[in-house]
Amino acid sequence: MPELPEVETTRRGVDPHVVGRKIVALAIHEPRLRWRIADNIPTEVKGQVVRQTGRRAKYLLLELESGTLLLHLGMSGSLRVLPAETPRLIHDHFDLLLDSGITLRFNDPRRFGSLHYTTSDPNEHPLLAHLAPEPLDDAFNADYLWKITRKRKVAIKQLLMNSTLVVGVGNIYASEALFRARIRPRRQASSLKRDEVVRLTRAVKAVLKMAIRVGGTTLRDYVNAEGNPGYFKQKLYVYERNGQPCRVCETPVKQFTQGQRSTYFCPTCQK
Ligand SMILES: [Zn+2]
Repeated sequence: MPELPEVETTRRGVDPHVVGRKIVALAIHEPRLRWRIADNIPTEVKGQVVRQTGRRAKYLLLELESGTLLLHLGMSGSLRVLPAETPRLIHDHFDLLLDSGITLRFNDPRRFGSLHYTTSDPNEHPLLAHLAPEPLDDAFNADYLWKITRKRKVAIKQLLMNSTLVVGVGNIYASEALFRARIRPRRQASSLKRDEVVRLTRAVKAVLKMAIRVGGTTLRDYVNAEGNPGYFKQKLYVYERNGQPCRVCETPVKQFTQGQRSTYFCPTCQK
C-alpha cells in the first residue's frame, strides 16, 4: 500500500511534468473507483493550467487555476507519466492529457483509489478537513507528541499509526522510528519520558525523510507507487528482519503481532 513517502515521491516525480501545463482533456475509462468519479470533472478541468502540486496525508493535490484535483492512490494505485499515444493497459482508469503531449495515467487494479475536484479550499474538503497533523510539519513536534501520549495506555506503536493523531506513519516507518528512538513498540504511550518523546519525534521525521529521499533517487518517468520500500529496504534496521542480527548490536531481531500487524524490534537496543 502506498504510504506517505511513496505519495510524496510520486508528487515529486509528477511535478516537473505537470506544473505550467494546460489540461487538454480528462479521459475517464472507469469511473467506479472507491467513490464514483463525478461526471462533471472532465468539463470542469478542461482548459485549466496546473499551477502547482501538493500533498496532504496520502492525497496528491493538483492545484488548477480555479480548483483542485484530489487524487488518492488507494491500496494499489500508481501514476505514470507517458506519451499520450501509449497504449493503455488493463486497470488504467483515467488519463489527464496535457498540452505537452504527455498524459498522467492512473492505474489501480483494486480500485480503492479516488479522484475528486473542489473549487473551495482543498483543506476544507470533507476528505481532508479532519486529518491530523503531518509528521513532517512543524505542528508535529515533541510538545504535540508529549500531549497526545500523556493519558493514553495504548502501545506507542499503535498510537503512532493512529491517523486521527498523526497522518501517514505506516507500519514500516513506525517500527523503524521506534528502533531509532530506542523505544520498545509495546510500551504504553503514557510511560514515555520527555527525552524519549523528543527522540521519537526526531526519529519519525528522519525515517520518513530518508524514505522520501531514497524513493526520489529511484524515480524516472515511471512513477512507482506500489508501496514497495524499494531501495529503502536496504536501509531498514528491524522491519522484516526477524531473526537477523541487529545492525547496531547483533542481537537477533524479534517479531510479534500487534494490532494484526507484524512488529519488529531489537530486545537489546530498545527499552
Ligand atoms: Zn540492537
